[in-house]
Amino acid sequence: MKFRTIKGTKDILPGESALWQYVESAVRRVMQSFNYQEIRTPAFEQTGLFARSIGELTDIVSKEMYTFLDRSEESVTLRPEGTAATLRAFIQNNLGEQSPLTKVYYIGPMFRQERPQAGRLRQFHQFGAEALGASSPQLDVEMMVLPLEIYKQLGIDRFSLKINSVGCEKCRPAYKQLLQTELRKVFTQLSHDSQVRVEQNPLRVLDSKDEKDRELTAGMPLMNNHLCDECAVHFASVQSLLDALELTYEVDGRLVRGLDYYTKTAFEITSTALGSQDALAGGGRYDLLMEELGGKQTPGVGFAAGLERLLMVLAKLEKNITASSVPVIYFVGLDEPSRIWAFLKSNELRRQGICAEVDYLGRSVKSQMREANRMQARFVIVVGEQELKTKTARLKNMQTGEETAVSLDHITFPS
Ligand code: AMP
Repeated sequence: MKFRTIKGTKDILPGESALWQYVESAVRRVMQSFNYQEIRTPAFEQTGLFARSIGELTDIVSKEMYTFLDRSEESVTLRPEGTAATLRAFIQNNLGEQSPLTKVYYIGPMFRQERPQAGRLRQFHQFGAEALGASSPQLDVEMMVLPLEIYKQLGIDRFSLKINSVGCEKCRPAYKQLLQTELRKVFTQLSHDSQVRVEQNPLRVLDSKDEKDRELTAGMPLMNNHLCDECAVHFASVQSLLDALELTYEVDGRLVRGLDYYTKTAFEITSTALGSQDALAGGGRYDLLMEELGGKQTPGVGFAAGLERLLMVLAKLEKNITASSVPVIYFVGLDEPSRIWAFLKSNELRRQGICAEVDYLGRSVKSQMREANRMQARFVIVVGEQELKTKTARLKNMQTGEETAVSLDHITFPS
């Protein structure tokens, strides 16, 4: 074969798409019940939007973005995540003027040039939500509840929720200095990646996956013990709301997440059913990001969750979801006039919303029956010269084998 998918991208084939639709409709259902409206932003944006919001020094911006010059020499980037574009759309379209709180969700492809492996793709799909305009800790908790509710409705209950507070512009600088002083003491023993981060983004050294780094930083001060009063109160409120909702969580002082824009709450949901790439969803508050992108000061909080990861968990748990549409009726035509009649009749039924199927390949009666079976059609009607003349035929229930007489002018299906 001449052409293949690009490394790290995948086709979603007809046999799989029904499952995607099933999961997506659970996402939409839950989002709607929490009163979130869908937003669809373009798949590519000006490069500066992502560099500015996610942070120049993050892995995403420094190593993983699909960035290129278009034909008019403008630098554009395939979106690596959904928050920056949502905020750009909010600012550009003055959404803040229409209502004091904007609650939106999205579902769509994201692009990151990561090393492909199980659970890590270069084009993957996320669903997520953003609530813009309020600093209430209730919304931080809502961002955790939303994905958890979606997982619950899909039958997934084995997950772990980790939360942290990464502070704000008032308390983080002093803590950063304190941490840097500690990190400099062990600088030469740190991994190369962590050494780079000590000066520029020291908090990220704490969530390094490198074993040695973790050992070296084990006793180091954590942000959640150095919060200002406002951040401490906010973090305590988040925890008491989670307690009130009886949601199990763990405070993980090392959780900082890979994006620079978070303030106060950060969280991650992992699944025990997944291997090394176990992150299902993550999110947090970003009260300074709107201004950073040129908008009015607007607090915000959001989450993003991987769809492929969710489908992997469903596959691991062997959830038996048969969401594919199967024909209600399959017409078997005995001769050419019957085939044409069946084609026209199935069009009529389809316009009434009934899934009807016919043979387009001129197959024998036997193989048409086999095809109806393979498609798991609920009913079959065999039509020939005789049936067309009398306008009656036998409707066969494929599950029970039972046959009943039907009028070809008014086909009705027993329930
Ligand atoms: P992030 O925006 O990095 O916080 O990612 C949010 C969620 O998206 C993760 O928890 C994963 O479920 C999913 N995700 C992130 N990157 C990838 C990837 N390269 N391939 C598949 N899923 C991903």
